[in-house]
Amino acid sequence: MLDYRRFKEINDLFAAGQPEKARHLLMELQSRCIALRDEMERLKVQIRTLEDVLYLSKNLSRENGFYWLQTPGVRQGPFCPQCYDTVGALIRLEKTACALSCPYCGQRHALPQPAGAHTGNDRMARIIPFSR
Ligand SMILES: [Zn+2]
Repeated sequence: MLDYRRFKEINDLFAAGQPEKARHLLMELQSRCIALRDEMERLKVQIRTLEDVLYLSKNLSRENGFYWLQTPGVRQGPFCPQCYDTVGALIRLEKTACALSCPYCGQRHALPQPAGAHTGNDRMARIIPFSR
């Protein structure tokens, strides 16, 4: 916290004909102002980081092993689960011919089944015997 009474002290020192003492006190205040500005910048970054964490906790979900981010009107993703779980980075997976690949860690994942897709046995034809 900056002590504003110090400015009056500086003024009084100048008025009393003690410019060196006033200049010394002024340099102390300048140093304190710089430290306060640095602390304010650090706190702003901390607030921004916490806002990002809060936003992600509300809008990030995990489905079928992949992360998805809900933004206004658009669902973003899928994002690499390895990168988010280890370093907290949201890296969008790139679709290749037969897999999803992470451009950062290189991990490859099988393509997720589209919603409503049939898997394996339920698509097989059922054999109905002819009646006689
Ligand atoms: Zn990755």
